[in-house]
Amino acid sequence: MEKTIVYLLVPQYSGVEGAIQSAFDLASSVNPDGPIQFHLVNYPEVNPQPNLTFEEDWTGQMEPVPISLSLFLGSNKKLLFEERRKFLEVPEELVLRMNAAADWLFHQESPPRENSLALLINPFGNTNNVFCGPSPTHKNAGFIQTTHYATEVLTARYIPIAYEFFAAALRFRAFNVPDFAQRFWHNEDLGCVNDFNRAIANIRFKVLTADICDSCYAHIEKQRLSPQFIEHVRAGFEQVAAEQNNFKRAQRSRKPIDMHLGFRYLTFESIKARVMLSPKEMTLYKFFITQPKGVKYHELGDYKKELIDLYRELFNGEPDEMQTTIQGVVDRWCSFDSDISQTVSKINKKIKDEIGDALAEPFLITGERGEAKAIPYATLRQRF
Ligand SMILES: [Zn+2]
Repeated sequence: MEKTIVYLLVPQYSGVEGAIQSAFDLASSVNPDGPIQFHLVNYPEVNPQPNLTFEEDWTGQMEPVPISLSLFLGSNKKLLFEERRKFLEVPEELVLRMNAAADWLFHQESPPRENSLALLINPFGNTNNVFCGPSPTHKNAGFIQTTHYATEVLTARYIPIAYEFFAAALRFRAFNVPDFAQRFWHNEDLGCVNDFNRAIANIRFKVLTADICDSCYAHIEKQRLSPQFIEHVRAGFEQVAAEQNNFKRAQRSRKPIDMHLGFRYLTFESIKARVMLSPKEMTLYKFFITQPKGVKYHELGDYKKELIDLYRELFNGEPDEMQTTIQGVVDRWCSFDSDISQTVSKINKKIKDEIGDALAEPFLITGERGEAKAIPYATLRQRF
């Protein structure tokens, strides 16, 4: 079986960050013995950052412009260089870098040229705002910009990167011509592998269709690619689409991030966040976390002893004030004073301010007016 080997050249200075590793893990899990093989390669490129310039206002959301061969056929290079912005690279330089990466690979490892694609896993932006694509001047070279805005618009950053691993393999086999930009770059979004998306957020469409348009299909048919290769690309696209699917995201969101409840803090290790609660707030939070079914405010009187014991453990004021303070606070709570709802609001606000509304949801003390108040996480953690 003929192989297509996609070498992912990760510059040493940037390293394999989480999104790259996750994209690689996903791509290599699809038909691992199939015709498309992915290899992560540590690439000792000299960091070009000193030559790039930093553009403060660059959002990365502007319409991308194809990187085409015409750049190399008598364009005014000087003018383009004058337009260079901070940490952004003009397309000529980007093309030279991807070509150099491919040449380095063939020099190092001498893999069979007809089967091997070198993708520069590029951390820098480019003035054309292109997310990924083939080199117009080197048929074994291409790039992906792993920091592109496109990686921020889907359910996770690795998703469009993994998609483009497979897309790059397909373009290498079926669309490997110097005038790719003129012939195959779609100016309209068709839900096709060759959409480059005027509005970057639309990358969602091609990821979800996991498909190619009719004219690209007709072109691919003429290339006489092996059915196993086509099947592998299809399986890769399908797998990526399944990860992007919003129903799957909903499923994930029912499993909240992990939280450790300490003496003073709620700690969310996976996102390096923590929320400090006062002893009074912590008393109430610890009480509700032990009540997965929830408790109505007017039932709190039944739990007076538990509340007092909890508060004693957490109290950090003067010992001679302890008895009076605790008794006073718990009495107010148990007599349905507005102090209880104010404390609950304060706790919820602290959590939302620290980790954001969406992630905070399972950790808030919630419940309809007059109904039982509960922390959803208290129930969920029994299940997971
Ligand atoms: Zn197409």
